[in-house]
Amino acid sequence: MDFKNFKSIFVTAIAAFSLPLSTLAFAEQGPRLVLQITVDALRGDLPARYYDSFGENGFRYLWDKGTVYTDAHHSHANTETVVGHTTLATGATPSVHGMIANLWFDRTEGRKRYNIEDDRYRMLSAGAGVDKSTEIDSTQKAAKSDGRSPAAIIGTTLSDEMTTSTGGRAKVFAVSVKDRGAVTMAGHSGKAFWFSKASGEFVTSNYYYDAYPDWVTKWNEQKLAASYSGKSWELLQEKSIYLFGAADDQPWETDLAGFGRAFPHPFGTDDGKYFTTLLTISPVGDELTLAFAKELITNEQLGTDDVPDYLGISFSSTDYVAHIFGPSSLESEDNILQLDRTLADLFTFIDKNIGLNNTLIVLSADHGSPDVPGYLNQFGIQAGFVAPASWDTVPAFAALKKSFGIDKELIESYSHPYLYLNHDVISERGLDLQQVERSIAKELLKFEGLTQAVSSSELREANLPDTPVNRAILNNFNANRSGDIYLVYEPHWFINEFDGLTVSSTHGSPWSYDNYVPIAFGGMDIPAQHVVRTVQTVDVAPTLAAYLGIKPPSGSFGMVLPEIFTENKK
Ligand SMILES: [Zn+2]
Repeated sequence: MDFKNFKSIFVTAIAAFSLPLSTLAFAEQGPRLVLQITVDALRGDLPARYYDSFGENGFRYLWDKGTVYTDAHHSHANTETVVGHTTLATGATPSVHGMIANLWFDRTEGRKRYNIEDDRYRMLSAGAGVDKSTEIDSTQKAAKSDGRSPAAIIGTTLSDEMTTSTGGRAKVFAVSVKDRGAVTMAGHSGKAFWFSKASGEFVTSNYYYDAYPDWVTKWNEQKLAASYSGKSWELLQEKSIYLFGAADDQPWETDLAGFGRAFPHPFGTDDGKYFTTLLTISPVGDELTLAFAKELITNEQLGTDDVPDYLGISFSSTDYVAHIFGPSSLESEDNILQLDRTLADLFTFIDKNIGLNNTLIVLSADHGSPDVPGYLNQFGIQAGFVAPASWDTVPAFAALKKSFGIDKELIESYSHPYLYLNHDVISERGLDLQQVERSIAKELLKFEGLTQAVSSSELREANLPDTPVNRAILNNFNANRSGDIYLVYEPHWFINEFDGLTVSSTHGSPWSYDNYVPIAFGGMDIPAQHVVRTVQTVDVAPTLAAYLGIKPPSGSFGMVLPEIFTENKK
């Protein structure tokens, strides 16, 4: 929309009522850039925990000069990466936007599907797809094709709305180490770039481009990732100043490929099998993302005219570091201090090139992060790992056989958080799906660590008590993609074994440590305040739309957050 015209009409209307113009609290113009930052796995309490160690221009630019919502939550149950990113991008719950999990079982194809895989498109760089021999993200390994696109996202994103409201004049981009962190935010109409661990470059698919823009090729030719060859992740500050300074080497931390449990963590040489992976489990992942994003801003000339542009940046290191070392570790603490510097660098760059007063910034997270059971156990708090492989399933299957005449054949697949049943077998045998779901749910609840097993038939028929967890599971329920039984583990209990890799911490629960995230707005004329009322992540996209004066994304039902508007705008 033409913000200037809107403003002049508004000013004329006000003038007709003889109000002094000085009562107008509009920023001079609308934003030239909307900068949507997602910090992967930044739990809501972490910025406050480390506030005193931050510099002035990173987190504190938003926390001191912007509007911070200190009690923000995702309202869906499956707190995974693609789910949270798409929710922030669309203002919709996964029941509507369809990204219900990083992986789901595709009943048409009879296999597990990675959220943004799309075999109609291929990677623009040969050999830049997922290297299954070294990929530690088990969801990526399930993809059948290296092709990626946003086609599985149902409805529009805020970035799509910026495209359509400007007749395509808004420039829309997103960047992340993770493909799903970028593709989701760019929406259907923008361009996404992500980091290929296989090639050490920022790459994209031919959904977006037929050939790389020259600046991307040139940037990749510098081989910035390789410049970390032989280096190590070193602490930014003296060890003694850290909260976890005396707790570096902990038995529950993961020692991946020689990276070690204590500082310094060596990346090895750039021909090492896990070299690029180790970069992403350190602040370097975010530094590479920032370096690429700056080049993008300059070369694509973001924020240089009155048409507002969109840039989504998702910083992934916080998530990888938390998975390997836990969120309450010296590694996570140092990573967030280094991220603070990365953010300060980004904000300084934006201020110089576009102006922070011309940029609307929002920062949030796709999910939080659970503390490692070992960390909690030392304080007497009960927590542990769920190990389905060790379950004695014989009595459960015997019970199913007795009721239905068959047992294992009833189950098609398990893909967190859903158990998928074999609908063909169930209907061929004339069994009642709801009855089968209930019986299996009853057997599941006998296993250690499980607290709820919610049947999808009961969700469809609204046949469940209205509890917060059931509501979150309903917000996650998409009839075409969700499974038949939603499994909920006890608070602080989770599965930590993925295709042979044992990690320290895994998010994905409906509990507050996983759904609690920060939401902070800054730049423009955003007032400085902390707001304690509870808000939801679906509120972000419609709030950005309201600020821009455009319609919210198609599936959005979040509430506009009025506090970010100066008095006369409310
Ligand atoms: Zn994530």
